[in-house]
Amino acid sequence: MGESRAVTLLGSYGLFAGLALAAVLAPAAASLAFPAFVLPMLWADLRRDAESPAVLAAFATVAGLVLLARAPSSAARLELAAGLAGLWTAAAALSAHRARQSADERALLLEQMNLQDAIRDDERDLKYYREYEETVGSETRLRRDLSDAAKSLSGTFDAGEVQARLVSVLTARFPSARIELAGGAGDDPLLLAAQKRRGPVLVKDAASEPLVVPGARFASGVAIPFQVMGRPAGFIKLESQRPGAFGPDDVRAADLFATMAALSLENVSLFESVRRQATHDALTQLHSHRAFQQRLQEEVLRAGRSQTPLSLIMGDVDHFKRYNDSFGHQAGDHLLKTLAGVLASFARPVDFVARYGGEEFVVILPNFVRSEAVSLAERMRARVAAEPFVFQGQRTGATMSFGVASFPQDATTASQIVRSADERLYRAKDGGRNQVVG
Ligand code: GH3
Ligand code: MG
Ligand code: MG
Repeated sequence: MGESRAVTLLGSYGLFAGLALAAVLAPAAASLAFPAFVLPMLWADLRRDAESPAVLAAFATVAGLVLLARAPSSAARLELAAGLAGLWTAAAALSAHRARQSADERALLLEQMNLQDAIRDDERDLKYYREYEETVGSETRLRRDLSDAAKSLSGTFDAGEVQARLVSVLTARFPSARIELAGGAGDDPLLLAAQKRRGPVLVKDAASEPLVVPGARFASGVAIPFQVMGRPAGFIKLESQRPGAFGPDDVRAADLFATMAALSLENVSLFESVRRQATHDALTQLHSHRAFQQRLQEEVLRAGRSQTPLSLIMGDVDHFKRYNDSFGHQAGDHLLKTLAGVLASFARPVDFVARYGGEEFVVILPNFVRSEAVSLAERMRARVAAEPFVFQGQRTGATMSFGVASFPQDATTASQIVRSADERLYRAKDGGRNQVVG
């Protein structure tokens, strides 16, 4: 650029100086040569020099005036004046042309700059929309996965099934990860880290975090601890042999899945406790009266179909009112619990022990004829009578009376068997208690 400027100036001013020298040396030809002064101006203009044409025009005017003063004739003066006027006209035309050209160039430059700005804006917008699209895409995917998980996990009341479904939900979300559900941390470095932190742990590169996961046999991993009913219930573990396989979004997703699974497991546990309450007695943990009635119906039908016997033992604590009065209601409750355990200890897996009422118990004995049931009841009676029943350090003691009835010997329907056993139980009471009537 500097060189280019020097060429412009040297060229135009050198040409001017040469012409001026020629005019001084040959004054007779000066008026003819005078219009040639337009040449350096044209040169400067061609070289896009804004100032030189005007400067050269001024120099040429001075030279013209000097030549005018030295002109030999009026004709020569006239010629010089005309040449000078021509020179000014040329200078004015050049300046107008230059002004228009530079205005055009400025406009072009401005347009170019505007275009570049617009391109930059568009590129920025494009980048933003791409990022936005990515975010929206991953959010949409997460929502879809969460909704699938919610449907799947809440669709069962079985704890094992919830866990199996959680694994399949996680597998769908993290197809290349090794997925594991663990009940406890054991000696697993990743789970121990989550246990210590009491929250999710993300290991992006196990090799560079030996303090967090000492002795890790994976490259990257996520561990999420979860609680059920306010108690630590286990961990979700994701591992990969590739470093950087998981990011914060994956931790967030896995954490949400863990929360959902925990809620489902809480539902399962509530459901199980409600179901247990419906079928079990809260004090003795034996089957309830309702469960007994239903089971007896089923067992009688089965016995009828298979032409096999069935027996029912009904037992009642002797003078339990008196027991309560002597030792207190709490001691009475304790006795009922202990008796439940004693009676249940005589039962086979196929037998069904239930609390029939206040201090009355029943045992359904499939495949037992009456004599077998009577001898079992007799063993129960003897055991109860021999038991010390210690409550708060005090030996109490209690006895029971039993009535035994059987299908098909004594009755053919469930209600007949119950009535028959009940009648025999009262005969045992009438007979002096602490005995079996069958
Ligand atoms: P019997 O030898 O004739 O059976 O006399 P009993 O006193 O055992 O019979 P009764 O039917 O008159 O009294 C039963 C008592 O059992 C009355 C009631 O207070 C008591 N009882 C019933 N359910 C419970 C219970 O859940 N806990 C306690 N502690 N007592 C109960
Ligand atoms: Mg009683
Ligand atoms: Mg009673």
